[in-house]
Amino acid sequence: MKLSRLAPVALAALLLTGCFDNKKSTTETSAPEQEKLPAAPSFNADSAYAYVAKQVAFGPRVPNSAAHVRTGDWVVSKFKSYGLTVREQPFEAIAFDGKMLRSRNIIAQFQPQAARRVTIFTHWDTRPFADKDKDKKNAPFDGASDGASGVGIALEMARLLAAQPDSLTPAVGVDFILFDAEDYGYDSSTQGELKNQLAALESQGGSSWCLGSQYWAKNMVPANYKPNYGILLDMVGAKNAKFSREDTSLQNARDVVDKVWNVAAQIGFSDFFLFQDSPGITDDHVFTNKAGVRTIDIIDHLPVGDDYFPAYHHTTDDNLSVIDKRTLKAVGQTVLQTIYGE
Ligand SMILES: [Zn+2]
Repeated sequence: MKLSRLAPVALAALLLTGCFDNKKSTTETSAPEQEKLPAAPSFNADSAYAYVAKQVAFGPRVPNSAAHVRTGDWVVSKFKSYGLTVREQPFEAIAFDGKMLRSRNIIAQFQPQAARRVTIFTHWDTRPFADKDKDKKNAPFDGASDGASGVGIALEMARLLAAQPDSLTPAVGVDFILFDAEDYGYDSSTQGELKNQLAALESQGGSSWCLGSQYWAKNMVPANYKPNYGILLDMVGAKNAKFSREDTSLQNARDVVDKVWNVAAQIGFSDFFLFQDSPGITDDHVFTNKAGVRTIDIIDHLPVGDDYFPAYHHTTDDNLSVIDKRTLKAVGQTVLQTIYGE
């Protein structure tokens, strides 16, 4: 399926200017820029939603659990079914509480032979406890947005890319790198009474978060990996999501932030992608950037008052009821369109 963006965008410009004759030049000057967007497949939010629901149905994907193993196997089988080249990177991580986490990163390559590449990063594990919940602070939770949404968008992108005819295949290769054990970290705001057993590690520049990306950064798969840039998707499925321009992304890859946010605006998603800067966040892109892959983070947050992260963050409210197909569409279509611009 091809998208024709010109008609709706031109119409939107007309409506925005609220004019007919006297501001005709406004629509005319903005039109040539709109025409530059290359054709891209239409991202199917229904399909992405089904992938999110499927992961949630496995149960919380907490490392060392049966649901975690089953979900990982399912994700691997889906990528393989679309013909991607899939590799698993098993590793054992030590969590802040001393637990050994049996983990694996999942790497799936589309057009592995292409020299120019873009990486889609996300994490597929869920946090073991809803420590920001009002009542059930020790309960595991579904991680519908925090975990499943990024994987759902990645799987739908993989399915679409593989389904295109040669005439609609992007010029770049695309790698989906799904990190494990991202969300087992120590949160001093909720776990102040716990002794952070990895304080020494954090003082050496490591973190109790993002264990999968830290492992991968030191043991890159593929070896000597050098994509053009990476896009990290984290919490990309909730209703009314707001993506502000996070500082670590700007410091390392401002041009990529600009590119993605401009594409989002051009195709009508500036109610999700806000042109507002925000402080840096500890997420997997911190470690992929350190490893030399210039990476931006698309993450649901808005630096306003105390509600820096959305209300569902690390609570049992992060379940399927927060997922909105419009958000999945906004992110999936924007990232896909960006890739087709390469
Ligand atoms: Zn999280």
